[in-house]
Order: sequence, then structure tokens, then C-alpha cells
Amino acid sequence: MHKLSEIVNNCGRVVVKIGSNLLASKASGINLSRVDAIAEALCYLQRKGKSVVLVSSGAQAAGVAALRLKEKPKAMAEKQAVAAVGQPLLMEAYEKAFRKQGKHIAQILLTNEDLSSKERFFNAKNTFGALLNKGIIPVVNENDTVAVEEIKVGDNDNLSAMVANLIEADLLILLSDIDGLYTDDPSKNRSAKLVPLVEKIDAGVERFAKKSGSELSTGGMFTKLQAAKKCVSSGIIMVICNGEEPGILKEIFEGTFKGTLFLPKKNAMTNKKSWMAFVANPKGFVVVDDGAKDALLNRAKSLLPSGVLDAGGDFRAGDTISVRDRLGFEIARGESACSKETMLIIRGCRTGEVGKRLPSCKIKEVIHRDNLVILAES
Ligand code: GLU
Repeated sequence: MHKLSEIVNNCGRVVVKIGSNLLASKASGINLSRVDAIAEALCYLQRKGKSVVLVSSGAQAAGVAALRLKEKPKAMAEKQAVAAVGQPLLMEAYEKAFRKQGKHIAQILLTNEDLSSKERFFNAKNTFGALLNKGIIPVVNENDTVAVEEIKVGDNDNLSAMVANLIEADLLILLSDIDGLYTDDPSKNRSAKLVPLVEKIDAGVERFAKKSGSELSTGGMFTKLQAAKKCVSSGIIMVICNGEEPGILKEIFEGTFKGTLFLPKKNAMTNKKSWMAFVANPKGFVVVDDGAKDALLNRAKSLLPSGVLDAGGDFRAGDTISVRDRLGFEIARGESACSKETMLIIRGCRTGEVGKRLPSCKIKEVIHRDNLVILAES
């Protein structure tokens, strides 16, 4: 574990996500002592020189408790109303707890749309950067009061992985009500074992995640694994551990904690590519022939007009588009060098023919390799 604790210790930017179950209950509302403990631990990390962002769930749970409802409502407008009541209560609790530590916090509420649009993504990135430079801890949640199903990230595990990507974090810590990833459901199988280290998310790990997990939280282990995939592909370490353990955050940096650590891939994507792969909302698509598919997947080539069979959607130069194979599978995503209209004119053209078909067009590659991210395994 010595080497791992060194890797973790070198992490300068850290996102910590805390789940609803740890923060609020229907009966007694926000757990103020837990909020105090998290504020204290995050300030400790800051004193150690880390830049810290907190992603906190609990708005809906706090709203349910404040309104003395028997359970979380099902209808969208009711859920939004409950979150609108709970979010300021949650922030009030954080504000008080951090003030005791002499620290300011800032609220950032995001929807999927804020992250999937390039302009808004970079706006948000600048805001985070400005706050972190001032030593202010941003407290993030999904903007549940306006996010309807279509524009929702839906769970804070995935949201925190997107935020980790946004701020180019080194480490994401998911504080949960279970110790980590188990080989089976520990509440049903006494011989289920905690998996301390995941070096590769393979089929075996996926199977563990299906079995283990908590029924109570929004996504259980399923969304935690989705978050882990986003992180490891983007070069970010991810840890799942039990936030009920006092001192767990300190233990992570001392290398003595109990939990699951996911190691990032060696050939991690750049920030821009992981945004395209996991966050962007493609504006359209191109369908490519088998030769182009092979060149993209196995020979690290750019996409040329000659390999394009068709294009759809509504995109302009610079927009993110999906690259589909002839069967319709999305094999890659990339930044298109031209609009859909141009793509439809120059598709199938060999190099040299493009200018003849469309004299104003100087394009060689319709998606340059530097702006392309592969999604399918070769
Ligand atoms: N945004 C939700 C809330 O604050 C929580 C979502 C989640 O727990 O993943 O209630």
C-alpha cells in the first residue's frame, strides 16, 4: 500500500462526493454533526495544500424532512419543489460548518446541459478555477429544481466524475454508506470480500458491481462504476469508501483506509477528449465505411472524406459529432472540421478530389486525430 499512498498523496486537486444517506434522514433532516465533520476534513485537506471541491447530495432528502413528507415524491414537479426547499437548508448547514473553520464556500448548481455545451463547460471551468484560486471550496449539486429528466445527469456519482474532469482533478473520493466494491452483496453473502484495488474495469469487476451495492442511494454501485470508468479513462484516481468512518479522508492520504481504489489508465485521454467522450452532447453523426473504421480503431488515423458514407443531425465546423459504423454503432466521437452540408458534399472524395467537388473547401481530414476519441475497442 506504500506506493499507492504516495500516488494519492501527490494528488493536488481533489473532488469529494458525499451521498444523501450520509447527510440526511426523513426523520431528523440534515445530519449536522456529519456536515461539521466533512467541513473539518475538507479544511484539513486544504491545509495540506489540496484544492478541494465538494459534491453534495441531500437536497431532496433535506426537503422531504423539512416538509415532513412520508417519502420522496415521485412526480417531477414535486421532486423539484422538494429539492428547492432542501437545497438552501443544505447550504445553510454547510455555510455554518465551514464558517466555524473560518472558510467561505460557494454554491454551484449544474445540469447536464451546463456541462455538455462547450461554452458553458468552459465558463463553469473558469468559475471553479477562480474560486479555487481564492481558496474557496465550491459545493456542487445537480440543479434539481430546473433539471427535468432529459437534461439531468441524474445522480451525483456521475456528476462528480464530470466535475472531476471539468476541474482536471487528480482524485475523486466517493463517500458512501458502504465500504467499497464487494465481490458480492455483503448484506446477503457473509463471505463477500471487499475489493481494495481495481487496476482494470473488466467483466469481473462489472459483475461485482451488479451484485454489491446499497439499495438506499440513487445509483448504488452501478453509477459508482460508471463514474469510475469516466475517471480512469481521464487519468483520475477514484476511491469509494465509507463516509460514516470518522477520519476516513485523512486515512486515504495516509494510505491506511479501507475502501476500493481505482487506478487510472496509463494512456489517459486529455481533458478535451474525455469531455467529448463522456459529457458532450453530439450535434450529429457521420457513418463511415469499414476501411475508415479500421483506420480509426487500429491505425490511429484521422477520418478522411473518402471514408464517410453519410451524415446526419445538424452540426457546424467545431461541433462534436458521433462516428458510427455501418451497423449504427458509435465507435468514436470527434470535432468535425466542417458542417453537415459540406460533409454531405465531400463524402467519399479521395484526397485531391475535394477541391474539385467544392472549390472553397480546403479540408484534408473531416475529423483530425487530435480531435478524435475512440469509444469502441478495436
Ligand atoms: N441531487 C440529488 C439531491 O440533492 C441527489 C442525487 C444523488 O444522490 O445522486 O437530492
